[in-house]
Amino acid sequence: MSSLNIYGNDENLHLMRKMHQNGHIPHACLFYGEKGSGRKTLAEYFAMTVLCTGEDAPCGTCRNCQKILHGVHPDLIPVEHSGKKQGFSVETVREICRDAIVAPNDSDRKIYLFADCDNIGIPAQNTLLKLTEEPPEHVLLLFTAVSKSAFLETMLSRMMQIAIRPCTPEDCFRALTEQHDCTPEDAGRAIKSTGGRNIGLALRWLEDTSMQEMTRHASELTFAVAQRRQYEILRILSGYEKDRVQAEKLLQLLLLQFRDACTLKYRDDILTGCDRQSAELLSGMLTASRAERLCQAVQSAYEASQASVSLKLVLSALGGNLLLN
Ligand SMILES: [Zn+2]
Repeated sequence: MSSLNIYGNDENLHLMRKMHQNGHIPHACLFYGEKGSGRKTLAEYFAMTVLCTGEDAPCGTCRNCQKILHGVHPDLIPVEHSGKKQGFSVETVREICRDAIVAPNDSDRKIYLFADCDNIGIPAQNTLLKLTEEPPEHVLLLFTAVSKSAFLETMLSRMMQIAIRPCTPEDCFRALTEQHDCTPEDAGRAIKSTGGRNIGLALRWLEDTSMQEMTRHASELTFAVAQRRQYEILRILSGYEKDRVQAEKLLQLLLLQFRDACTLKYRDDILTGCDRQSAELLSGMLTASRAERLCQAVQSAYEASQASVSLKLVLSALGGNLLLN
């Protein structure tokens, strides 16, 4: 990690500092939440809190904190992914189990960071079980994943589980401008298009022009559905006929837009789509039941695409359904 500043997740930060102050550090911790939400950053912050020798941990200035901030602490060990699915092979896990017995180099703990565990296999988990159950006193195991479901119940029962909370758009803006050198204009665009609840997602959006194009298409489609512009709907959808992965991503964005249009009928504080303006316009045109049918049409198209129905058929059927409903 490159900075001590964490944007959002105040409750989790407080919890970690409290555990350190009270001397109640668990032996294994799982940080889970969506990609880009800061799971790994929080895990590293926890490692820094635990290893800090300063007054107010994490102080950011003691030797241990400095080494972690520069990514060179020998006792914070990132475990390399291995195998086809980028999980962790049994051999890798065995090596960690052997290494864990050896005393730390530079501090009083050895911290292993298993990041992105969504493809951790059952054999690897079974191999890790004993270490998680009865680790040497100096060992702390940190895991990150999108969901807890990546893990066996036997593993979960031995981990402290920390859910990463979405940040606020204000936190996201500060993180982008203060920590990632974005201009206020870029930060504003990224937040508008991604919802501003996930700093990593906003950063990806700024770097990835195809993602920017796709959010623009989801917004244009929402306008076109509100205004019942048949040609425009079919024009945008037909651009996705050749790429199933991209088409499914567009359908997911469109579904969020339509859900926002439903939500806006009742409240306006928990939107998740990429463009509020078009969702508001659509919301004004819809009855609750038509809104529900639109969501259903997109959901069915998504499921048909996943079931390998011809993409051309799926998208032209969707084009028709968006106008009918
Ligand atoms: Zn420190």
